[in-house]
Amino acid sequence: MSGGSLRLRGLTRVHGAGTPPALDGFDLDVPSGACVGILGPSGSGKSTVLRLTAGLDEPTSGSVLLDGVDLAGVAPERRGMAMVFQRPLLFPHMTVRDNVAFADRVRGVPRRQARGRADEYLHLVQLGGFGDRPVRALSGGQEQRVALARALAAEPRVLLLDEAFSALDAGLREEMHELLADLRMRLDPTILLVTHDHAEADALADTVAVLDDGRLLQTGPMRELYARPASLSVSRLLGGRTEVTGVVRDGRHESALGSLELPSSAPSGPAVLVVRHEAVAVLPAGDGDVDGTVVRVRRRGLRSLVTVEVAGPAGAASVDAELDPRQDVPTGRTVGLRLPVEDRWVVPVDGRAGEPAQPVPSPSEA
Ligand code: ADP
Ligand code: MG
Repeated sequence: MSGGSLRLRGLTRVHGAGTPPALDGFDLDVPSGACVGILGPSGSGKSTVLRLTAGLDEPTSGSVLLDGVDLAGVAPERRGMAMVFQRPLLFPHMTVRDNVAFADRVRGVPRRQARGRADEYLHLVQLGGFGDRPVRALSGGQEQRVALARALAAEPRVLLLDEAFSALDAGLREEMHELLADLRMRLDPTILLVTHDHAEADALADTVAVLDDGRLLQTGPMRELYARPASLSVSRLLGGRTEVTGVVRDGRHESALGSLELPSSAPSGPAVLVVRHEAVAVLPAGDGDVDGTVVRVRRRGLRSLVTVEVAGPAGAASVDAELDPRQDVPTGRTVGLRLPVEDRWVVPVDGRAGEPAQPVPSPSEA
């Protein structure tokens, strides 16, 4: 089954007069065989996108196109979409096999044939021997595999995943990520998934659309969003920690960190320098672009995350850096920070500049 191509155009959903739109003019392309992610905090409109796509809710305006055909007025069961939710929603009185065979049975496929197909899909999700078991006897991770098998057995043109792995613990979630990668190689489905977890979006999606308050903030491959966020909101939603307010003048950012050359021309005026903690190197004092004092150290597996305070003539700034696995730096030490030119990025000052960034837990802390 090679998946269909999905296009969302200007999708808008307003729930009541006088209330802000749950989704506002949302555009997205999901090419055939691609896995596109929508990343946003709780309440940002992610499920709304999936509900409108699946036909479970109607847009106030805008359209959903599947292989170029506008789906307005097409009932959910006729859209060729299958959805997996955070909870598996299996039929508790049926066996695992009959849960997966259900859609085929409803379509009138003879029982034997439907069960045979169910077994194939159970095999694909690595539950080959589980067909006869009652779903009650499954663990949470196994239940979610059955839900995935049931969705795939419907041979959808588009597979919709609504935080499908969010309720699983970290180890199971990673197994599901590997399973999904494996299924993509075997079946080439078109997938639109939503998640609030940037690490999950990074692990699964080719392209990610960042959503906040019903608005699309930026779309691109995750690497590009990390390196070149369009705004402070995007930087923060992707776990960005360092924000240094200053001014761009003649292609340099001037702040408490001093005057730093920028890799590309940025418009002059107030701007916030953002640098990923993964890109900042911690060196002996005097060896970097600027010196500062380590004020906080947090362990993260083999690496540590340090916060370095820099006090310059133009005020103070705080920069987060990830240490190399063999590097150890105590609180209180003066160190040099190198911010590689190509990793410096400035975003416009918005309403949020100046407020502290919400601490974003890393996957290992979550
Ligand atoms: P997410 O999935 O990103 O958490 P949702 O798409 O579920 O967000 O919701 C987006 C916004 O729309 C939220 O503010 C939510 O309260 C609102 N909303 C969702 N469904 C309804 C509804 N049936 N009636 C009124 N408001 C709704
Ligand atoms: Mg949701």
